[in-house]
Amino acid sequence: MSSPMTLNKKVLRVPQKMNRDWKLSVMHVCDYCGGYRATLPDGEGGSICPTCCDSRYASDLKSVFELALEQLVAAEKRIAELEARTVKLPTPYPKGYGLAADKYNFALEECADAIRAAGVAVEGKI
Ligand SMILES: [Zn+2]
Repeated sequence: MSSPMTLNKKVLRVPQKMNRDWKLSVMHVCDYCGGYRATLPDGEGGSICPTCCDSRYASDLKSVFELALEQLVAAEKRIAELEARTVKLPTPYPKGYGLAADKYNFALEECADAIRAAGVAVEGKI
């Protein structure tokens, strides 16, 4: 059984598409595709065309989607592990052992009911 997992929600933040004013574009060689196109500064000292800008955004989205999928698969695995848990309680006393044994058995039944209510299977007949 693996340890409890936590989702890394920081890496799952949907990237925001940069709002660019393409009316300010200039004809220049795009540093990403090499085409001579209308470009804007890419914020990293280069020039980028609208197609490459969209491609970068799609790539960012794909990365976040892949991380989300990876975490979803891990979460499904963890849920399956949790749902497969069982608890083995002590053996109840046979009937006729007296009041103390009856109270003990009743407490065991209460424990078994509470454990089952939490979604965990109880081994044996309680
Ligand atoms: Zn380009």
